[in-house]
Amino acid sequence: MSESKLISIVIPVFNEEPNLDELVDRCIKAGRQTGRPFELILVNDGSSDGSEKKIAAAGEQYPGLVFGVILNRNYGQHNAVMAGLEASKGEIIVTLDADLQNPPEEIPRLVECIETGYDVVGTVRKNRQDSFFRKVASSITNKVVQHYTGVMMTDYGCMLRAYRRHIVDAMLECTERSTFIPVLANSFAGAATEIEVSHHDRSKGRSKYDLWKLINLQFDLLTSMSTLPLRLLSVFGVIISAAGFGFGILLLLMRLIYGATWAAEGVFTLFAVLFVFVGAQFIGMGLLGEYLGRVYHDVRARPRYFVRRTVGNPKSEQQINQRMDS
Ligand code: UDP
Ligand code: MG
Repeated sequence: MSESKLISIVIPVFNEEPNLDELVDRCIKAGRQTGRPFELILVNDGSSDGSEKKIAAAGEQYPGLVFGVILNRNYGQHNAVMAGLEASKGEIIVTLDADLQNPPEEIPRLVECIETGYDVVGTVRKNRQDSFFRKVASSITNKVVQHYTGVMMTDYGCMLRAYRRHIVDAMLECTERSTFIPVLANSFAGAATEIEVSHHDRSKGRSKYDLWKLINLQFDLLTSMSTLPLRLLSVFGVIISAAGFGFGILLLLMRLIYGATWAAEGVFTLFAVLFVFVGAQFIGMGLLGEYLGRVYHDVRARPRYFVRRTVGNPKSEQQINQRMDS
C-alpha cells in the first residue's frame, strides 16, 4: 500500500537557468531511487532569464513526470512554493531549492524517514556553505523560532523538507500573505523530526537574497509567529516611563538641593533622556506599523500569486488560482 504513494517534489525557480538541466536530471534520478511514483513540480517565480523555456522543455521531455507552474511575475520564494504545493497531488511532498545547494540525492532518505511515522521532516545542513553573517543570523532566528513554536528544530532556514498531505492541505488553508513555510508547517505538525543533510556551495548563479530581502524575511518570520513583540513593546514602554518618572524626581531634587546653576547644566541631561523616549516611540510606531501593514495586506486579500500558465497540466491554472479567489 505504502509503495504506491505518490511523491511530489516542489521546487521554486527564480533565474536559475544554468542549474535547471542538472537539477531536473538529478531530481528524476533521486525520484526513481525512491521506487515510488513521483512528480516534479517546477514553479517559475517570474524569472527573467531562460528558466521558463527550460521548464517547458523539461515538461515536454518527461510528460506526466515534470510539471511547470509559471507565475506571471516574481512573488518571492515562499509564495512560489505555495503555488507549487497547490499544484501538487502527492501523499508526501518534498520541497527543495533549485540552486543545487540542497542535493536532490537526499530525497529518498527524507521519504524513508517520513514513512517511519512523521508529519514533517526537516533537515540540518552539515557544513553549511554560506557566509558567516548568514550563519550567525540563522542561528539566532532558529533559537527564537524554537522558543515560540515549541517545536525543536535546529535549522529552520533549510528548505529541503518533507511534509505529509494533511500538513500541506492545512498550510494551503492559511490565507495570510506573509508566510514562512517551515514555521507554518510546524505549527500543524504532530510529530516532527529532522535529519542531517549535506549542503553545497552555490556553483552557478547568485543568491536571490540580498540584505534587504533577508531583513524582510526576518520580519515575516517574527510577525507570522507571534504578537509577542507588541507585548514586549508595552513592557518596554512601562519600564521607560517608570525610569523617566524616577529621573524627573531626581532632577527636581538636585534642583532643590544644588540650585538653578545645576539645573541649567542639566538641560543636556534632559535632552539625553528625551532622545531615549523619542527613540522608544519610533521603535514602537515602527513595530505597530509592521503588524498594521500585514493586517492591511490580509484584509485586501489579494491572491498570493497568479498562475499565468502551466506546463504538462498538473492541475489547471484555474484550479491552482482558485483557492485564493473563493
Ligand atoms: N527563489 C524564488 N523566488 C525569489 C527568490 C528565490 O523562487 O524571489 C528561489 C531560488 O530560485 C532558489 C530558492 O528560492 O531555488 C532559494 O534561493 P537562494 O538560493 O537564492 O537563497 P539562499 O540559498 O541564498 O538562501
Ligand atoms: Mg541557495
